[in-house]
Amino acid sequence: MKKHLNHIVFRTISEISAQENQECYVIGGFVRDLFLERPSKDIDVVVVGSGIELAEKVAAKLGKLRLNVFKNFGTAMFRYRELEVEFVGARKESYERHSRNPIVENGTLEDDQNRRDFTINALALSLQKENFGSLLDPFDGLKDIENKIIRTPLDPMITFSDDPLRMMRAIRFATQLGFMIEETTFQGIINNKERIHIVSGERIADELNKIIMTDKPSVGFKLLETTGLLQLIFPELQAMKGVDKVNGRAHKDNFYHTLEVLDRITPHTTNPWLRWSAILHDIAKPRTKRYDKESGWTFHNHNYIGEKMIPTIFNRMKLPLNEKMKFVQKMVSLHMRPIVLSQEVVTDSAVRRLLVEAGDDIDDLMTLCEADITSKNSEKVERYMRNFKVVRRKLKEIEEKDQLRNFQPPVSGECIMETFNLEPCKAIGDIKSAIKEAILEGEIPNQFEPAYAFMLKLGQEMGFTAVEK
Ligand code: ATP
Repeated sequence: MKKHLNHIVFRTISEISAQENQECYVIGGFVRDLFLERPSKDIDVVVVGSGIELAEKVAAKLGKLRLNVFKNFGTAMFRYRELEVEFVGARKESYERHSRNPIVENGTLEDDQNRRDFTINALALSLQKENFGSLLDPFDGLKDIENKIIRTPLDPMITFSDDPLRMMRAIRFATQLGFMIEETTFQGIINNKERIHIVSGERIADELNKIIMTDKPSVGFKLLETTGLLQLIFPELQAMKGVDKVNGRAHKDNFYHTLEVLDRITPHTTNPWLRWSAILHDIAKPRTKRYDKESGWTFHNHNYIGEKMIPTIFNRMKLPLNEKMKFVQKMVSLHMRPIVLSQEVVTDSAVRRLLVEAGDDIDDLMTLCEADITSKNSEKVERYMRNFKVVRRKLKEIEEKDQLRNFQPPVSGECIMETFNLEPCKAIGDIKSAIKEAILEGEIPNQFEPAYAFMLKLGQEMGFTAVEK
């Protein structure tokens, strides 16, 4: 069905370009993905001439499709069923040192292929009638696809210096496609890493998010680290690398641990913010690291300090400062709780407290904690996992019984005031907290009647008199 749709679009473009006497090619990601057998809905068409004019004619012929024209960029785009087809005139680019926005002139197909970032992204398929479907591959991109190699078409010093975002893209493609970055291309990234400063935070975050959403994001982060880019874009994560040793006692390398947690969580969630929580769960370990003879290495309060570091990191990386960030903060601050629970005897009251604090995010928190068990000792891992099963079961039992998720006090402040004829005062807060404590401790169930009775008794003990109703 999909092939059929592509075919209709390509044949239509071919007919119209013949009538208009213009050359057209499908280029870039679509062609790459065709050979990689990855589904792709974005089709980029290069027109040696005006992309906009040709797009208008094709859109009209395909059925009066709505055309979005971006005059400034010389591009036009329409949707045809689930396909997104974008037209652009072939161009030649030159760059100035301070900006990644090129000076653009009209060019040939070859010029257009030269400005592409990688050989695998420079493949073009002809839409000319006389050689419809033939491949134009001046940089041996097809061979690089077969050998799984990321390589720049021109000297990498030029390609990366012109547009340093390409360094992030190289690492992202390597991670997404499981490709190797060819050696001089890799060296080109190392040599140009400082140029990343001219790329906007948003674009960097975009690429980071794409890396995070792959099946094995650790690959990308390791490449960012070895090229030196990580230190520049995410120094807090870089700071986690390395091991200190005192009196022969070393702590684990928190960078590699974090990457392991990230890889371990990916099969269990497609929520990018839970994946971000995995990246950030131990982010305050370098700051909180201490050594003393008795306890060895400690990272006291790294969960709370980590929670506080997140707004600064999100702000710098242009990640959203909204409820998504709050979710990550919550995960980071609570990430030790289920682990502590699973080490001890799992008491009902500890499970209740966790439920109240985590609310609807409890399942995500458990997923994070399970991914956090990265010990080499398989017996230890199994023990933890068994204990987590107990915690999960208890969570379910207690939730069914007490419905503590998103806890709302069963007796309100107003009710307390009315019952004892009180003005707003501290005692009301004290009574409310005592009711909550009694519920969490399992002394009373999370229901109005027993909570009301508990309140009456407590108020009377505090010297208040209930008003007759
Ligand atoms: P994805 O859709 O996964 O982001 P893609 O390569 O399919 O990857 P785009 O990022 O839309 O999609 O890019 C389309 C094509 O445009 C690329 O294949 C490449 O040829 C070219 N391109 C995109 N960005 C750059 C860049 N910064 N420098 C050079 N060429 C680029």
